[in-house]
Amino acid sequence: MSDIDIRTEGRAGRITLTRPKALNALSYDMCIALEKAIDRWRNDPDVALVIIDAEGPKAFCAGGDIAEMYRTGMDGNFDFGRKFWRDEYRMNAKLAEYPKPVVSFLQGFTMGGGVGVGCHGSHRIVGDSSQIAMPECGIGLIPDVGGTYLLSRAPGRLGEYIGLTASRMGPGDAVYTGFADFYAPEDSWDTIKATLIETGDAATIRNMAQATPESPLAATQPQIDALFSGESFGDIRNLLDNSTGEVAEKALKAINRNSPLSMALTIEMLHRLRAPSLTIRKALELEYRVSHRVMEHGDFLEGIRAAIIDKDKSPKWQFADGDVPAIAISKMLMPLGRDSLDFREDGMKIGFIGLGNMGGPMAANLVKAGHTVTGYDVAGVTIDGASSASTAAEAATGADVVITMLPNGGILRSVADDVIPAMKPGAVLLDCSTVDVESARDVAAQAAKAGVGALDAPVSGGVGGASGGTLTFMVGGSQAAFETAKPLFDIMGQKAVHCGEAGNGQAAKICNNMILGVTMIATCEAFALADKLGLSREAMFDVVSTSSGYSWSMNAYCPAPGVGPKSPADNGYLPGFAAELMLKDLRLSQQAAEAADADTPMGEAATALYSQFVENEDGLGRDFSAMLPRFETKSRG
Ligand code: NAD
Repeated sequence: MSDIDIRTEGRAGRITLTRPKALNALSYDMCIALEKAIDRWRNDPDVALVIIDAEGPKAFCAGGDIAEMYRTGMDGNFDFGRKFWRDEYRMNAKLAEYPKPVVSFLQGFTMGGGVGVGCHGSHRIVGDSSQIAMPECGIGLIPDVGGTYLLSRAPGRLGEYIGLTASRMGPGDAVYTGFADFYAPEDSWDTIKATLIETGDAATIRNMAQATPESPLAATQPQIDALFSGESFGDIRNLLDNSTGEVAEKALKAINRNSPLSMALTIEMLHRLRAPSLTIRKALELEYRVSHRVMEHGDFLEGIRAAIIDKDKSPKWQFADGDVPAIAISKMLMPLGRDSLDFREDGMKIGFIGLGNMGGPMAANLVKAGHTVTGYDVAGVTIDGASSASTAAEAATGADVVITMLPNGGILRSVADDVIPAMKPGAVLLDCSTVDVESARDVAAQAAKAGVGALDAPVSGGVGGASGGTLTFMVGGSQAAFETAKPLFDIMGQKAVHCGEAGNGQAAKICNNMILGVTMIATCEAFALADKLGLSREAMFDVVSTSSGYSWSMNAYCPAPGVGPKSPADNGYLPGFAAELMLKDLRLSQQAAEAADADTPMGEAATALYSQFVENEDGLGRDFSAMLPRFETKSRG
């Protein structure tokens, strides 16, 4: 996106606001892009810290982009604004709680939404041009984006003063009030950034920062504390009205411009929040109670009209005489119930194609987790809570992620031909079927050409793992696509291993299953031999499961009935994992071995044996562990 530049450099995740002509005002899309970036870097070992800065000398970020909120709000549509605020506040909380250092460089204006981006990180750097302010009461809002959190922690009554008067804080004031941490002359910022990029060590900032300039606010704090310690906005205003001196007069002049309702709310909120148990989430939740209602019942639309649209600077505030009744404050601050800010992210839009034994329960788990799923299966299968499409392309249209769970590579290729052209740019095609490496790589290349991400992510864990949400995913494809799909892996499975480039997930899967096929045969052979040598099956299990012959086939999926944990052997060898599916996977392994010129004699022998079992004997439709009763009927000749 051209308004924000997100990249990694050296050890740093870098976010640069690149809208200097609009004083880097924060749009909804910038907000979401920023959130996605820090989500991505949270567990990325290559990213040691995050640097947030902005282009142009005038502003780090002069506020939120409120024009669209005004337009939609004037049409009676309050949902756009509410969604903007909800998602923005969630991003603010993430920045404040981020587990890695977040370093911000705050030149020029940092106001409103800009404070939410720049003033919640762990290392906030100001310079000589810095001007930080929370001017929301001037547009009929309240100091939000976590502003009440910072204001309520400022020394004495400076929070009330800054919130009500929208005073601009220079570097000394910003550090004194807790909106910033370090002062460094702006001509040294490039060197600081370069050091951070190279070392990934935020502790180096302390050595590069300089002594903080004087804080004028600190000098006037005794007067401010005396003037702003009233119980309510009315008390504060009365006192200012009846006081003389420069501080009182300047404050009164500023306050007379602002919305009385907003200022009364600000005082009430700061008083409520000023407690040892204060967290940023508590502050944001309280702020959201106001912002959810402010277009409908507050002064926000009138404030924007006067300041930005008509620019007449004469807003017609409610309670213009400054007498705000307590009931008006309570109404705005009442809990929101179901509409409360819960910091949850909206579900993804998912197309799910192939709703068979595995795909059906996987899709059901995604629905349960709150995602919007549209399913499609040629057999007409439907899933409770998911909508049904009449074609694969329809299921893929508009989806963030399209998941396929199909029988084989040929079918995957034909489904990919249908869905990729229907997918939106940047969406991810997530194939969880077991298919050949070549099909996986071809589909990934086809997706890349269309500007769509692709992952091959075959699974282990069977039908039980699919319904229990405990599958293991072996994933090939780009890191970015992997990060997009990660929340879905967390729902459908217990582990997702990123194995590298496209096709590597399938490579891991067929290697794993080649081992599984070979070890199952070896385990069954050994049981049959032990029988003939007069060893009890119980003794055989007890020894091997705790000796060097142990394996998943013996310990977790024992092919002998009545021995070890419950397995398909205890259920007449009903699959479980059907012998023909094992044959399919073994054939895929041999196809790949041939293509890669790898010598796999055991895999070859296992393939031949399962093919004999499934195609010439009674293996079809039985579990793959039914090799044991097969060996029981055989003798050496
Ligand atoms: P399944 O046969 O039960 O499901 C496949 C589904 O795909 C069916 O419902 C079928 O109607 C549908 N389908 C076929 N062609 C289609 C098309 N063109 N468009 C839309 N839908 C189509 O198979 P499954 O057991 O769910 O296995 C799916 C995949 O998972 C396979 O690749 C399999 O190897 C792999 N797998 C299965 C298990 C297991 O234990 N079953 C374990 C691991 C991996």
